[in-house]
Amino acid sequence: MKLTEWVECRLARLAPPWMIGEIRISPGYLLTHRADAPEDPGLQLLSDWESLLELARFDAAGRFRPLRGAPGLRKGWRRGPLSIDELVADLQLLYPGAVAVWAAWEEERLVSTPFSETAGRQTGLYEGTRRLPADDLSLLVEEICTRGCLRRPLWYSFERPSGDRGEIPLLCPEVCHYFLHKARSRAAARKAA
Ligand code: SF4
Repeated sequence: MKLTEWVECRLARLAPPWMIGEIRISPGYLLTHRADAPEDPGLQLLSDWESLLELARFDAAGRFRPLRGAPGLRKGWRRGPLSIDELVADLQLLYPGAVAVWAAWEEERLVSTPFSETAGRQTGLYEGTRRLPADDLSLLVEEICTRGCLRRPLWYSFERPSGDRGEIPLLCPEVCHYFLHKARSRAAARKAA
C-alpha cells in the first residue's frame, strides 16, 4: 500500500480534527496552526508551496528555524482543502519523515538507532561525538529534544506515545543532524577544557 493510501485509511479511523505537532488537520484536509480556529475568516490563505516552505523555515520574527520539529510555527494562516497527496507532501515539508515513521510505528516495524551506534558511524569533525560522556548526552537530550523539539527521541528513551484520539505521534527514531552538531560542539568543548 502506498503511504498516501495508508494515511487516508488511518485518518478515516480516527475522529477529526487530527493533530500533528503544532498543526491541526480539519476534515477536507484543511491545515491551520493548532492554536487557531479553522473557521476564523482572518486567517491568511497559503495557496502555494513556497509560502508553506517559508512558514516552515522562518518563525514569526523572521528567524531561521534550524529544527523543523521545534515549537514556534507562526500562527494566523490556513492551507487547503488539500488532496491526500498534497496533505502528505505538506506534512513532509513541515515535519520531514514524520508520516513514514508514524506508519512504521503503527505497523510495528519501526527500528530506533541508539546514539552510540549513530555516533560510532561518525568520522572527521563529528568523530568526537563518540566520546561524549553519558551525563552530557543526558543534558543535551533535556535541552534540545525535551525542551526544544516536539518529537519524541525513541533513540534515547523508548516511551510509547499516549495515543490520544486524533493525535498523530511525532517520533524520532534516530538522532538528527542538528543534535549531532550540538553534540560535536559539546564534545569539542570537553576536549579543550
Ligand atoms: S534528535 Fe532530538 S532534536 Fe533532533 S529531531 Fe530527534 S527529538 Fe528532535
